[in-house]
Amino acid sequence: MDPEAHKGFRKYTGDAISTLSWDADTGTHIPFRASVSHKHRTWAKTHFSNPELFLRPQSEKEIRLIVNLARQCGKTIVVVGSGHSPNDLTCTSSWMVNLDGFNSVVFENCRELQLEVEAGIRLHQLADELEKRGWAMPNLGSITAQSIAGAIATNTHGSSLRHGTLSQAIVSLTIMLSSGESLRCSATENEDLYHAALVSLGGLGIITHIVFQAVPAFNLAWKQEVVMTPQILDAWKTDLWTRSEFIRVWWFPYSGRSILWSADKTEEPLRERPHSWYGGGLGRFSYELALYFSTWLPWLTPIVERYVFSLQYRWEVGPSGSAVQKSHEALTMDCLFPQLVNEWAIPLEKGPEAIQRLQTWLDGDKGDKSGIPFSPKGIYVHAPIEVRVADTTLQAKKPWLDQSCQTGPTLYLNATLYRPFLRNPPEWERYYNAFEWLMKDLGGRPHWAKNFISTSKEEFWGMYPKMKDWVELRNTVDPHRMFANDWLKKNLLKDEEDTEITQIKERLKKL
Ligand SMILES: Cc1cc2nc3c(=O)[nH]c(=O)nc-3n(C[C@H](O)[C@H](O)[C@H](O)COP(=O)(O)OP(=O)(O)OC[C@H]3O[C@@H](n4cnc5c(N)ncnc54)[C@H](O)[C@@H]3O)c2cc1C
Repeated sequence: MDPEAHKGFRKYTGDAISTLSWDADTGTHIPFRASVSHKHRTWAKTHFSNPELFLRPQSEKEIRLIVNLARQCGKTIVVVGSGHSPNDLTCTSSWMVNLDGFNSVVFENCRELQLEVEAGIRLHQLADELEKRGWAMPNLGSITAQSIAGAIATNTHGSSLRHGTLSQAIVSLTIMLSSGESLRCSATENEDLYHAALVSLGGLGIITHIVFQAVPAFNLAWKQEVVMTPQILDAWKTDLWTRSEFIRVWWFPYSGRSILWSADKTEEPLRERPHSWYGGGLGRFSYELALYFSTWLPWLTPIVERYVFSLQYRWEVGPSGSAVQKSHEALTMDCLFPQLVNEWAIPLEKGPEAIQRLQTWLDGDKGDKSGIPFSPKGIYVHAPIEVRVADTTLQAKKPWLDQSCQTGPTLYLNATLYRPFLRNPPEWERYYNAFEWLMKDLGGRPHWAKNFISTSKEEFWGMYPKMKDWVELRNTVDPHRMFANDWLKKNLLKDEEDTEITQIKERLKKL
């Protein structure tokens, strides 16, 4: 560590460190807002870490001060948004930076419906800001708790074949590199950095500003129906995914049924959501309690799931609720309890095969029909398994690390396992190994933020033709390896020595 690094900074004072640096431009001090006792945990309480410093800057100058000091001290920086990534992407024992206090609107372009925002803004705050202007986000995932920078960093998606992922709405972004320099990038300016940073995994620098492309505000009329799962598979190739703008399917493997949720823009007056059985305190508590008991007596799981299905929806096939809501209210949902989630992107046309093989395996097949080389004995899963779609081949912006299918529409299959009262269901790892084996067999790639467990560095490099470019660009813009965090080292970055040896070998080959 550079002994001069702390020059001009006060020493730690208990928990909070409030050191200051002089800003010659304004004749004021720049605060250094840090605490030393922050305990980080992810939303589902599956990963924890104790960062050496937890920093919450409120201005660009404060962010630059942190970056400059981290560089001088040889520290790694991990930025955390709302901590909703289910895996350990955001865990660090080094410095953790959070931009919740850097979340204002900077500029609006009313003609183009574009809003420049500070990157710590949460999606629900962004939705409110857009609504004030009569605008909205074109597409959304299941929740709005995420920060905009965090949501795009892992390629968050919703469910619509008329949309790609949330990165599609990012016109430009400003990123502060480990040198302290800020670079603006877009489809026409620093293009490589832009395409690398649209799905950055926090590995390039701190995204400080984002220009967001909004659309005119819209309401959605949605409806949900109970459908027998074979009917879903029958309609797959006809109009299942095209009959409405937004469509998602919740597959309940123990009920033989699925919920088909569809939504379209409407001018109809607003109409409230129907009552949700497990949206109420008692329903929610009893469901969680029943799931908790099932972790001790796993064979109870199908009975619980079937019973809850009939209370939450209805057992008979047919309509099971509708409403008219503002877009961001209609598209989001109650995700219930802390959970493990393992979501993979596979080509849409492989969907029926994926669902049939997984259903066969869950029904007890030992691999003869499903081809899945893991024993299903003692495995009971939670519902729903989420079945969603996106089409990033339509979007002009091409993030280098987009996990979606690059040759056609994508199916996102999400194997959810609840953690009732924070207890993992038994055999969850065998289930996830089997699920991931199937997804890989069907040409899939895991969602960056979720709880995949069996994908090696070599497999990731094989899955992404652009991985080499992304890593090389990362190494160029971050020569100090300030953003080469533990997660990236574990999953993507090759050891420095390996890289050097490869480079020497390549140079020798050219001689
Ligand atoms: C209940 C729930 C529902 C979800 N629903 C969906 C869904 O419908 N669709 C979907 O695709 N995903 C979904 N997710 C996943 C979620 O959208 C992503 O994990 C998202 O990245 C979380 O955003 P965040 O602000 O919490 O970011 P974090 O989890 O805090 O961080 C994610 C990544 O972003 C980086 N990062 C954050 N801010 C910055 C910055 N300013 N500069 C540079 N890097 C930064 C971090 O370093 C990290 O690598 C869901 C997750 C949960 C828990």
